[in-house]
Amino acid sequence: MQSSQHASQIGFDYADEPLVALKPTREAGLQLLEQFLPKAGRLYQAHRNDDLGPTEHRNVSRLSPYLRRRLLSEQEVLAAVLSRHSNSDAFKFVQEVFWRTYWKGWLEHRPMLWQGYQEDLAEVHSLMQNNAWRLDSYTRAITGQTEIQPFNGWVQELIETGYLHNHARMWFASIWIFTLGLPWQLGADFFLRHLLDGDPAANTLGWRWVAGLHTKGKTYLASASNIRKCGAARVASECNHDAGLARLATSAQPPEETLSPRALQMQQVPWPAPYKAAGTDHGTVAVLLTEEDLALDLPLSPGGVVALRPLPRSVVEPTSPQVQQFGEAAVADALSRAKTAFASTLWAPCTLAASAEEIVSWAEQHGFTEILCAYAPSGPVRQLMPQLVSRLAARGIRLTEFMRDYDRLVWPHAQKGFFQLGKRIPDFLSAMELGDGLSS
Ligand SMILES: Cc1cc2nc3c(=O)[nH]c(=O)nc-3n(C[C@H](O)[C@H](O)[C@H](O)COP(=O)(O)OP(=O)(O)OC[C@H]3O[C@@H](n4cnc5c(N)ncnc54)[C@H](O)[C@@H]3O)c2cc1C
Repeated sequence: MQSSQHASQIGFDYADEPLVALKPTREAGLQLLEQFLPKAGRLYQAHRNDDLGPTEHRNVSRLSPYLRRRLLSEQEVLAAVLSRHSNSDAFKFVQEVFWRTYWKGWLEHRPMLWQGYQEDLAEVHSLMQNNAWRLDSYTRAITGQTEIQPFNGWVQELIETGYLHNHARMWFASIWIFTLGLPWQLGADFFLRHLLDGDPAANTLGWRWVAGLHTKGKTYLASASNIRKCGAARVASECNHDAGLARLATSAQPPEETLSPRALQMQQVPWPAPYKAAGTDHGTVAVLLTEEDLALDLPLSPGGVVALRPLPRSVVEPTSPQVQQFGEAAVADALSRAKTAFASTLWAPCTLAASAEEIVSWAEQHGFTEILCAYAPSGPVRQLMPQLVSRLAARGIRLTEFMRDYDRLVWPHAQKGFFQLGKRIPDFLSAMELGDGLSS
């Protein structure tokens, strides 16, 4: 295999090592990180673009389902990588982690965009029901029955494993939009419902970037030669790939912008200040964990913990059972870790809640006066917050969101292009006291 040959040329052979399975616990995330660490430097830099096929993603970390839920935090992953590699060797990996933070921060500066996308998606989905040709193309695409064999292979991998390599995501989105002529909104929705790491910011903005809607007019066009080169392992296993790849679009016209100017408008966001406990009796404070942030480094040790079960990801179709189960188990894992971590202060029974109403009645039943929650960025949990805040307030309970120092440090620099943020990476690393200070 091309990539493992390259790997042995630079003195590291990882081809036979069994890959750690993607299990929905922090423990599994830590094992995955440990396995990936030796490869996070020059190996990643040299081979990260190769899609080696469903069971062979050895050249990338597969940490995204953990980072997305903060089962592992960005800062701890960066710290682990930079303790093993110099800043310059780990530069590419570090940069990719900051791409995630860039998308998160960029979306936070446009707080109406997620809602605007939901409305747009619902409209596009409903229009499709009355358009037999489009419905047929869409159905063939999401069931992997197009005439482009590598595309069908990615559909199958996505549905079966909940993961796709970054390059495959780019090729997939490009073929969806420019070759199959399908609306980007439906493709983004299909990804979000099937990816274990499905993320409102990285996914929606990743699709808009490919479509040429992020950097106006700058599209990403998948080419047969690039797929043959970087997807060689997969393409080689398809008996009829040449005919399929010959069908790829050779030019890309960005689709019309359908999000309203209001949805795209940048706003000053009143992000929460660092947390300060209101009183000394922490027994009256509970913590709310959500799928947006399952990290347990909290500003105080609470008297109770309530964890919100994963909310539906899409307004038009159900979340895939695999993603639903992963999310449910990840939340349950955090709750069970919390029981151990805060054993000395917990006095109320820890619980899972499925709605704002259930959170409120649990808090009221146990007499909590404040609920502390890590800031929920744009997405379904954020959309629930106004309702939760007002229901809690009606019972005399305050909801306090706190923001992680990492987000507070980086998000303010995610207002425009990635370049503006990327050039500050050395400053971010020094502020976090990470790396060798010799950054590229
Ligand atoms: C159309 C499209 C949709 C995407 N949807 C999602 C999504 O829903 N959720 C998601 O987490 N990522 C998404 N990405 C970004 C990227 O593809 C994945 O983060 C990456 O493939 C995850 O695999 P990995 O953990 O093995 O990555 P690695 O290559 O090992 O990278 C390490 C970490 O850096 C971050 N990262 C890497 N590449 C990117 C990138 N291009 N953009 C943002 N963050 C990145 C991820 O957190 C990743 O875990 C999307 C990209 C595209 C083009």
